[in-house]
This record gives sequence, C-alpha cells and structure tokens, in this order.
Amino acid sequence: MDGQEFVVSYDLIVIGSGPGGYVCAIRAAQLGMKVAVIEKEKTFGGTCLNIGCIPSKALLHASELFEEAGHAFDKMGIKVGAPALDLPAMLKFKDEGVDGNVKGVAFLFRKNKIDTHTGIGRITAPGVVEVKPAHGAATTIEGKAIVIATGSDVARLKGITIDEKRIVSSTGALSLPKVPQHLLVVGAGVIGLELGSVWRRLGAKVMVVEFLDRIVPGIDAELARQFQRTLEKQGVIFKLASKVAAIDAKGAVLKASVEPAAGGETTTVEADVALVAIGRVPHTEGLGLDEIGISLDNRGRIPVDQHFATTAPGVYAIGDVIAGPMLAHKAQDEGIAVAEILAGKAGHVNYDVIPNVIYTMPEVASVGKTEEELKAASVAYNVGKFPFTANGRAKANQQTDGFVKILADAATDRVLGVHIMGSDAGNMIAEAAIAMELGAAAEDLARTCHAHPTLPEAVKEAALAVEKRAIHM
Ligand SMILES: Cc1cc2nc3c(=O)[nH]c(=O)nc-3n(C[C@H](O)[C@H](O)[C@H](O)COP(=O)(O)OP(=O)(O)OC[C@H]3O[C@@H](n4cnc5c(N)ncnc54)[C@H](O)[C@@H]3O)c2cc1C
Repeated sequence: MDGQEFVVSYDLIVIGSGPGGYVCAIRAAQLGMKVAVIEKEKTFGGTCLNIGCIPSKALLHASELFEEAGHAFDKMGIKVGAPALDLPAMLKFKDEGVDGNVKGVAFLFRKNKIDTHTGIGRITAPGVVEVKPAHGAATTIEGKAIVIATGSDVARLKGITIDEKRIVSSTGALSLPKVPQHLLVVGAGVIGLELGSVWRRLGAKVMVVEFLDRIVPGIDAELARQFQRTLEKQGVIFKLASKVAAIDAKGAVLKASVEPAAGGETTTVEADVALVAIGRVPHTEGLGLDEIGISLDNRGRIPVDQHFATTAPGVYAIGDVIAGPMLAHKAQDEGIAVAEILAGKAGHVNYDVIPNVIYTMPEVASVGKTEEELKAASVAYNVGKFPFTANGRAKANQQTDGFVKILADAATDRVLGVHIMGSDAGNMIAEAAIAMELGAAAEDLARTCHAHPTLPEAVKEAALAVEKRAIHM
C-alpha cells in the first residue's frame, strides 16, 4: 500500500503490529471493520515476536536442552558424550522460530483483509495518520478510530551507552556472536534472569547486580527467595542492593563500577559483555501526541479510561504503552477488548487475573495477589503449600525444585493468588488463572480430579493444604 497519493479511509487504524496491535486488528476485522495496520519495522509482530518473547524462549529451550545433555542425560542412561555448542546454529534455530512467527502474522493480516502500511505513523489530527516510510514520500490515511499500540523500548542507564556489542540490551543479548566468559547482568528482573540463564547454560560466568535487596520485584517474596537460592546453586552470582554506576569500555575488558545502593565503597567488576536489563519504557516518540492533546503520565505512559480511550477523540491506546504489566498476553487481551468496544460490544480485561511467567529452569509463574499485597490490604488469608519433592512425577523426572503456594480468602476460601516455582510452572499457572477467572474456591481446585502422575497434582495438593489436608505430605 506504500506510495499512495489519495487518502484511504478506514474504520480503524492500528499503529504498531505487536501482540496488542495485531490481535486488535484481527479481532476488529472479524467484527466487520475495515482495518489498517501501520508498522515501522520490516516485519510484523513487534517486540514480542522479533526481539522479545519468541527469540528468548527459543534460546531458553535450546540452552536448557544443551545443559540437560551435558548434565542430566548421563544419569538417565543416555550416553551422548559431552555436548558441543554450535552457537551460529543455535542462533539460526532462534531466527527460524522468529521467522515462522512473523510470517504467521503477515498471513493472518492477509487472511483477514487487513491493509498494512510500512512506515512511522504520526497522528496529525484525530482520525488522521501520516505514514512516513524509510524512503519516499509520506502518505496520509484516515480512520474513524485510531488505536495506538506502539509498545515499549529498552530503558537506559544514564551515562552508559548501549552499543549492542559489548554493552547490550536484551536485543543484543539475543544474538551475541560468542559466549562471553563473564557476563554482567544489570537488573534482576525477568529479562535479565532469563537471558542470564541462557548464557550461563552455554558457558558464561554470570553476575547479576540489582539495585533492590531482592530479585524479581513484584513476585511473591518467599518464591523470589527460593528462586534466588536455586539460581545461585546453578552458579549465578547475585550482588543485591547495589548499583552499576558506570562502565568503562575503553580496554579489552569492560570495567563496571559497582556501588552499594545506599552509598559506600565502589568495587570494580570485570566482564566481556554487560547486559543492561533494568526495564522498559513506553514508546511514544514521533506519534504527535502533543499536537492532539495527549499528555503522558509521570512514567511516560498514555493515560486511558476503562475503555482504553485517550483524551483525544477517537484515539485509543493499549499494550506496553499504557499502564499495567508489560506482557504480551495483557496487550493481546486489551487488543481484543478495544476492538470489541469499538464494535459496540462489552470488551473487558480482568487485571486481577494476568499470569506472569519467568521461563528459567525451574520456571516461576504466578497469578493474582502475593502475600505481601494481601497483608498490605489487610485481607485475611489462608496459605496452602506443596513442594515438588513430594510430587510423584517430579520425583520420577528428578526435577523436584520448587513448590506451589495457594493463597485463599480466609472467610470465603476464594483463590486470591497462586505462585509456583517448578518445572513447567508456566503451563501449570493456566489452571490457576481459569480457577480465579471463574471465582473458584481452593476447595474447587482440591475437588477437581487431576491426572496422575502429573505436575499439576501439586496444585491440587496445595489446594488441599489450604485446609491442612494434603495427602502426600
Ligand atoms: C527479551 C524480552 C522477552 C520478553 N518475554 C516475554 C514473555 O515471555 N512473555 C510476555 O508476555 N512478554 C514478554 N516480553 C514483553 C513483550 O514483548 C511485550 O509486553 C509486548 O511485546 C508488548 O506488546 P505491544 O503490542 O504493546 O508492543 P510491541 O510488541 O512493543 O509492539 C509495538 C510495535 O509498534 C511499532 N511502532 C512503534 N512506534 C511506531 C510508530 N510510530 N509507527 C509505526 N509503528 C510503530 C514497533 O516497531 C513495534 O513493532 C518480553 C520482552 C522482551 C524485551
């Protein structure tokens, strides 16, 4: 569609083709709207498919098998010798996974008759978007509604320049041409721990420096403590309550100045590669928001009402660019909700039930409230816990790290939060999310027949443990 000289009119223009934008476009097209998507990059799918969820999970999968081949196959009686790493082939495997996914989005756009425009979208007036391609003249399209789904970008540390070679963001860390001997990870959040795990498994010595005195802020503190111990057993070194103040990149080895967060003596940490993973910031640059009267909140996000409407008429926003957890499935659900709202239906996202997964080994997954949140809100609750050391399947697989923890309302038994550390926790959390979405009590989970021998039996047992009647403990 590039190079048009006439104005095309749409029911809906979506700016950004990440999980928020592409899902919104498809749902709107299903509902009979004439839809256009504007994307500035060459491929569709946004951060998630190109430089986020998909490539990171491909590398986590491959590196996990590499580690298993080296450490776990032998005791299962699989004699394959010491595995050798072919890093270019592993990176190709990752790229093929990305390629399949981004092509899938292009196919879905064609299937749903969605027009695509390549270039930077800028809203020049409500209902009007200018598309500026990398080369050639800008075009203008019009839409009854505009959904901003421009996602997020890497957060940077003042004074530290990311060159994507030695000082990298997650994007560079997904394509390092060689395994670093020493990898310094700045930030003990999900992305730092996932990508730190990838390179540790492939042979790097990994140190994680975190400003706070705990890892993965936001997840249940008990789970975070046990998760930290498990990662330490795997060889990851943590320096908590510390900050990287500067990185000297002049020599052959990076020299990072690390200070206690509360102030004090600086130490120097040497590394071949430093991964800056301190979070992400909403991406609103170049959208022309000022001109249409949209002001950002104090964290650079676009404020929206409960129908995802911004302060500009006919302009909506979803995904990482608005408040809430920066997660692909949250963006997707918002995309569906806003398309349905625009079609006069009752689109809705239940923000109390958004699962969160860390795809390390073991995985960490949670949904709903943490103990800390319930305490802060003075909600009385009961706790049911069950360790994987007591689960038959985990014992058989010799993957017994972790536990399931269920928090249930003390008065009603309603499930308020589920927190799991263990192999396959990311798949197991779906059961908890469904239970919570349907307003289930811990008793409902406990009375649901779970197949044996499976890891989710630990969820049932934790539900039984809410009333201190777990069987296998
Ligand atoms: C390494 C990494 C791993 C991650 N892993 C997970 C995971 O396992 N699970 C999970 O749920 N989340 C994960 N995330 C987060 C997830 O990627 C984001 O939450 C998700 O992509 C947000 O979707 P979105 O549609 O809001 O924005 P994005 O996916 O960021 O897409 C926005 C799109 O808009 C385009 N764009 C921006 N401005 C313009 C403009 N003016 N004109 C045209 N196009 C524009 C961008 O090029 C981009 O394609 C990960 C992120 C990273 C970085």
